[in-house]
Formats: sequence, structure tokens, C-alpha cells
Amino acid sequence: MPKVLYIEDNFDNRLLVRRILMASDHGFDIVDVDNAKDGIEIARANPPDIILMDVSMPEMDGLSATRQLREIEELKTVPIVAITANAMEGDRERTLNAGCDGYIRKPIDVDKLPDQILAYIRSRNERSARREADSAD
Ligand code: MN
Repeated sequence: MPKVLYIEDNFDNRLLVRRILMASDHGFDIVDVDNAKDGIEIARANPPDIILMDVSMPEMDGLSATRQLREIEELKTVPIVAITANAMEGDRERTLNAGCDGYIRKPIDVDKLPDQILAYIRSRNERSARREADSAD
């Protein structure tokens, strides 16, 4: 059961993503939280399979939160996917530089989201399988 942590200050977005994931056949286990500080604590206490990170939040924004998460040993390789409303040039670079694996633009595509999430989890698993194979050589 893929464990998803969604950090997002907007209630409607949290509700939407929760509904999408609960309705999918993949049996997602979703935890959502409305601020980055609590999100970091939850991730540290119980590392998820993927973190969906809203970029624009009051107090601590999603990119600062991502940098902090990457400092935590258990969370160095967990996929972090930025959820961004800005379709601006340079977004990709900004999110990748902060330590995100990629980003999904708002508005969230209800039909695509479950597969997008699974693809990020799979590519992480494949990377770690390759690393283990390399170190076994
Ligand atoms: Mn926001």
C-alpha cells in the first residue's frame, strides 16, 4: 500500500487529492497536513513512500521544507514531488535544485494523479535496486 504524505495549506486541494487517491484501485494510504513544520515531523516519524509538496505555503514554503527533509537521513531518497501553481519558466530548475524529484502543475489532473504518483515511487525503487546490484558486483 503506497504511503503518501501530502503537505498543502489549502483545504480544498487536500480534500481533492484525498478523494482522488481513496477512489483509486491502488489502495493509497494518504496522510495530509496543512503546514510544512508538522509535515516534516510526520515524515521523520514515519517515512512515507512519497511526499507531495505544495510550493506556496505561509510560514515555511515547500522548497524550504524540501531542503530540510533532504537533511534527514531516512528521507534522502524519498520522492518529493512539488505541486506548483506557477507555470513559470525556471520552475523545474527551482524545484529540482531544492531537492524535489519533479513537479506536478495545478490544477491537478484527477485522472492522471494516481499513475503519476506510482511512476515516481517505481523510479525510486528501480534506482535503489540498481544501486544494490552495483554494490554487489
Ligand atoms: Mn498553497
